[in-house]
Amino acid sequence: MSLRELYQEIIVDHGKQPRNWGQLANATHSQAGHNPLCGDKLTLYLVAQGDKIEDVRFEGSGCAISVASASLMTEVIKGKTLNEIDTLFHDFHILVTEGKLPAADLGKLAVFSGVAEFPIRVKCATLAWHTMKAALTNETNPVTTE
Ligand code: ZN
Repeated sequence: MSLRELYQEIIVDHGKQPRNWGQLANATHSQAGHNPLCGDKLTLYLVAQGDKIEDVRFEGSGCAISVASASLMTEVIKGKTLNEIDTLFHDFHILVTEGKLPAADLGKLAVFSGVAEFPIRVKCATLAWHTMKAALTNETNPVTTE
């Protein structure tokens, strides 16, 4: 199996069986996000304590890339500090727009390296991240990628 096929398989798996699915009754932050270009919608729930993300869940509907990206994001950011998350988002953005792996270890997020070949999919891959950022800054308006 090539690396590309492995990456594809992980995206399909997370797209079909998203991790950290559902709501959080004790969420300190929540935010809705929408990518009208593709029709992806999600709502993110976060429990932040100090500068750390203690828990995160999401629900919504959308294409495999958007759901898989949200699923993998929740796995990656749980337990991280806001500074670490900022760095991850920055590096993830380079990955999906330029297709190259930044110096930092992105772990499972590397599966989205192929997205750079499909610019229209970049918004699918980054929707959850933009929504997470808006949740943490207490944006009141729903996030839209437009
Ligand atoms: Zn999409």
